[in-house]
Amino acid sequence: MLKNKLVLEINNVKKYYNSFLALNNISLKINSGELVVLLGPNGAGKSTLFSIITGLMRADSGACLINGYNIADNTISALKNLGVVFQQPTIDLELTVKQNLLFHSRLHGIDLNLVKKTIYEELVKTGLEKKINNKARTLSGGERRKVELIRSLLHKPKMLLMDEPTVGLDPGSRTDLLRKILNLKKTKSLSILWTTHLVDEAEKADKIIILNKGIIKTAGTQSEILSLAKEKNLANAFLKIVKGE
Ligand code: ADP
Ligand code: MG
Repeated sequence: MLKNKLVLEINNVKKYYNSFLALNNISLKINSGELVVLLGPNGAGKSTLFSIITGLMRADSGACLINGYNIADNTISALKNLGVVFQQPTIDLELTVKQNLLFHSRLHGIDLNLVKKTIYEELVKTGLEKKINNKARTLSGGERRKVELIRSLLHKPKMLLMDEPTVGLDPGSRTDLLRKILNLKKTKSLSILWTTHLVDEAEKADKIIILNKGIIKTAGTQSEILSLAKEKNLANAFLKIVKGE
């Protein structure tokens, strides 16, 4: 297995909404098998950065490369390497779990006979196989997010983006989702960029990036951030860094 292969590289990205600078010179790197948490309060610029990585918006300057492909010039090749779970759920509530997953597979040109087996196996791992023919509407928020996660990985991307995936979930579902992500990282060497404003979700990350008002305030392991902020817990360190004390 390749170690330390660069999967996501963002160089000096700037993004304006009219004259408002939403992202100011953002640079970051994620290697294969790394879980990076982008931690920032509401309005920090997390979703804006996601829109740029997914090619929904263009950066005003700078570059974003996914597995070496520039999202702005080589969008299709770049997106092949990317699985995405957006902040707002994008599952069709009137379709069954199976229909949601099969439709997405068709869009990606995945062999349906092969993917049917994968879908079933993944639903079994998540304990959702009995709900395969239920409409998504009948699932809980946590279950819907799990279906979205399965869907985001059907085309076997190298990198997974999750934008505040635990918003609205109960504590049990939150822990469940995080556990599943850690398992994917370990077993599949998947690279993950997870955004959140919740400090406790950052504790398992290989690297934490603290974003505030469009600026990366600091980046490093939890212990590096604690020692930089001269604090014993991440919640205090986060507050201190965001306030710029
Ligand atoms: P986060 O996801 O961290 O909460 P966003 O990326 O959604 O932050 O927003 C970053 C900043 O950009 C906020 O101040 C927000 O109000 C502003 N913003 C986001 N989208 C737009 C838009 N389409 N037009 C103008 N301002 C926007
Ligand atoms: Mg957001």
